[in-house]
Amino acid sequence: MYGAAAVTVVSITAAFLDLPFWFKHAFPAIFAGIILITIGRSFIHDLKLKGIGSRITGYAFILWGLLTASTLYTLGLGLPWIPSANYALGGILRLVIASGTLIVYFEKNRADLLEREAYFRLLTEGAVDIIYRYRLLPEPKLEYISPSVLPITGYSAGEYYDDAGLLRSLIHPDDLPAYEAFINATGEYSSLPLSLRLIRKDNHIIWIENKCVSHYDEKGNLLYLDGIIRDVTARKERERLATRVDKLNMAGAMAVSVAHEIRNPLTTVCGYLQIMAREAELHKYENRLVLMLEELNRANTIISEYLLLAKDKRIELKNHCLNTLIKKISPLIEADAAAVNVAVSLKLQELPTLALDENEIRQLILNLVRNSLEAMPRGGILVIGTSFEKKKVVLWVQDQGIGMPDDILQNLGTPFLTTKDTGTGLGLPICYRIATRHHATIDVKTGNQGTTFLIHFSLSHFVA
Ligand code: ADP
Ligand code: MG
Repeated sequence: MYGAAAVTVVSITAAFLDLPFWFKHAFPAIFAGIILITIGRSFIHDLKLKGIGSRITGYAFILWGLLTASTLYTLGLGLPWIPSANYALGGILRLVIASGTLIVYFEKNRADLLEREAYFRLLTEGAVDIIYRYRLLPEPKLEYISPSVLPITGYSAGEYYDDAGLLRSLIHPDDLPAYEAFINATGEYSSLPLSLRLIRKDNHIIWIENKCVSHYDEKGNLLYLDGIIRDVTARKERERLATRVDKLNMAGAMAVSVAHEIRNPLTTVCGYLQIMAREAELHKYENRLVLMLEELNRANTIISEYLLLAKDKRIELKNHCLNTLIKKISPLIEADAAAVNVAVSLKLQELPTLALDENEIRQLILNLVRNSLEAMPRGGILVIGTSFEKKKVVLWVQDQGIGMPDDILQNLGTPFLTTKDTGTGLGLPICYRIATRHHATIDVKTGNQGTTFLIHFSLSHFVA
């Protein structure tokens, strides 16, 4: 810009001065030549784009610059063909520059697009969630799925491209109807997320949440779905724990208000029945009276257990060694176990003391043991163990029983959940309540080899 302005000013001034032709034209011609050569150089060296377009344009500019700068000299040679040759060459070079610039423009567009694509690819490939596009027309095909599918489901993106039915085959059978309904929903695909369970390659079950947007052609046919799949297993687990605590709290609150109301009349009825059982003239009803008393006792036990669920029950924490408590009740456990042909084995490791409520821990162990014995009707081995690692004391009760199905496992600890004819469904809720009161957590491992309940006491709460 400055150069062009300077050339203009100098040329105009020179026009008014009485100078020979050569002087008037030499400066602008040489200066214009230098500017054109500089532009040419910058096309070749400075442009970020290294393509054929910038090189063609750059060299054409340089040649044009040389031609312009040398015009005066060549004209001065006085050869008759030089002026027309100069014009023709200048025209050709300008044409080359115009086409070269057009090529540069296309090359730049392409480079921008590639860069943007690389950027979006980086975003999708780096995402923790799974991003996918599923085409339905002209034929169903998975068009894209991000690599995060590997850590989440255990199968790589390549396996999904190779087998269009893979994702569907991973869906938990219980959730297939919901999935079908979602896929076959008419009209707008629901913007509500669909939650379902997937079976990972390692057979673990995970919860995923699928959200997708549908794209239609102008005739209203569904062309493809763009979606996001998120692993929500941890969130589901938290929700499950929260509902369990809610249910326990509700049951506990009801326990306190209802239990006493029921227990009082029960005690009266019991008392009268005992008196009646002793009367000679009612002797012929003895069997029925005994049965009635037994049933009432059972009702009483249920109420006592139910009361243990009360939320703000006072507990007395004292320093105890868990092993000592286990040894204390082991004769009782062994007697129970022997009755159903079960051998009891204690695997107790050395432990630090914990602040425990003796009665509650005893109840906890007995409830777990009772369940284990009930799960081994044909006998087996029951192991009660303790261990101390990573600042946690673990108490475990392991049986060789029948294990439990997934729906029971998922809902363990729900009051009144039972699979037994004479069960109360209160044993485990009480265990969970006791664990909570001791700031302990319960883990369950179950399979057809048996079930293990692990209670983790964290030491930090208990160091006296
Ligand atoms: P209940 O024993 O009265 O049925 P619980 O709360 O103690 O109630 O247990 C609830 C359910 O959990 C049981 O009915 C049973 O289906 C399952 N369960 C608990 N412990 C075991 C175990 N060790 N093995 C198999 N199933 C178990
Ligand atoms: Mg039980």
